Amino acid sequence: MERTLVLLKPDAVRRGLVGEVLRRVEAKGYRIVALSMREADAETLGAHYAEHAEKPFFAGVVAYMSSGPLVALVLEGQRVVEGFRSLAGATDPTVAAPGTIRGDLARDWGTPEIQNLVHGSDSPESAAREIAIWFPSF
Ligand code: UDP
Ligand code: MG
Repeated sequence: MERTLVLLKPDAVRRGLVGEVLRRVEAKGYRIVALSMREADAETLGAHYAEHAEKPFFAGVVAYMSSGPLVALVLEGQRVVEGFRSLAGATDPTVAAPGTIRGDLARDWGTPEIQNLVHGSDSPESAAREIAIWFPSF
């Protein structure tokens, strides 16, 4: 069964949207098979966002992701990688489609980094790599 790694980013926790996002995931029919609230350290975030290490927004995104507790999840279901990305919507919340998590619940707050509530793995290979980072015993 396919799995994906989802993060409810610190803005989701701060804004009290954990329940709303989990509701959408469960209503869609995906199964939550691991869930943990924690504060991410720099090492974990560096590994998680390794593909973006050279990007100009890297330091900002690490600061954002370290700004408070987040919730890490593993979801399971047929084509869940693609399906959660579809639920999440486009990276930029201003243009993310209404009906998506980012389109309905996120916006531009004028911060240098894009605060968009959720992360979802972008391929089954990324999911395996990211699940090993966040849930090494899984
Ligand atoms: N991000 C940002 N500025 C950018 C691009 C991305 O702050 O110009 C942040 C944003 O929070 C995004 C994360 O870095 O979710 C990872 O970027 P990616 O392009 O992988 O987007 P995603 O896969 O999350 O949609
Ligand atoms: Mg990505």
